[in-house]
Amino acid sequence: MTLKKNDPLRLDVSYLVKESPGTYKEFDFNFTQLSLPGDLVLVDIQGVIAISVTEDGVVADGDIRALTQLSCSRCLEEFWQPLEIKFTEMFTFHPLENSGDDLEQLLPADGSIDLRPLIRDYAALDIPISRVCKPDCKGLCPTCGANLNEVDCGHRTEWVDPRMAGLKELLEKSEQDA
Ligand SMILES: [Zn+2]
Ligand SMILES: [Zn+2]
Repeated sequence: MTLKKNDPLRLDVSYLVKESPGTYKEFDFNFTQLSLPGDLVLVDIQGVIAISVTEDGVVADGDIRALTQLSCSRCLEEFWQPLEIKFTEMFTFHPLENSGDDLEQLLPADGSIDLRPLIRDYAALDIPISRVCKPDCKGLCPTCGANLNEVDCGHRTEWVDPRMAGLKELLEKSEQDA
C-alpha cells in the first residue's frame, strides 16, 4: 500500500503520474473501521482501488465492500447493512477544455488523492432508502411495543382496509340499530 502514513485515506499517486499513459496499479483498500464525515462509520472494509494513468490525468476505479450499522425502520433494532462502494473518478492534471460537465476534478499538486469524500459519497449512495433489518421484519406491536420478531405478545392488530372502513362502520351501526 502506498497510502500515506500520516493519513491513510490519502492515496499517493505522485510517482505513478510520471509513468506513461496506460500504467495501471491496484491498491488494496482494507480497514477494520473508518469514521467518515457525516457520521458515517464503516467496518470490515475490503476492496481495491485501481489507478490508470491517462494522457490527461488518472482514473480511479474503486470496488470496495463494507458494513455500516443502521437501525431498522420497523423494529428499531440495529443491524449491519452491507454496502458496495463502486466508483470511477477522473483526476486531471489541468482543467480539461470542452468539458461541459464536472465529471472530472483536478489532481492535487502533491499527487495525493483524498479518498475520504469519494468513499463517503459512494457509500452513502448505496445505503437503501428503506432500512429494514430483513425483508420480513415483523416490526413492533402497536399495542405493547414488543418486538414481534422475538416474541408473540398475543395482541392481534385488527387491520382495516381504509376502503372498507366506511362499510364496517355502517354494518356496526345497523347491528346496533337492529
Ligand atoms: Zn427490523
Ligand atoms: Zn403486543
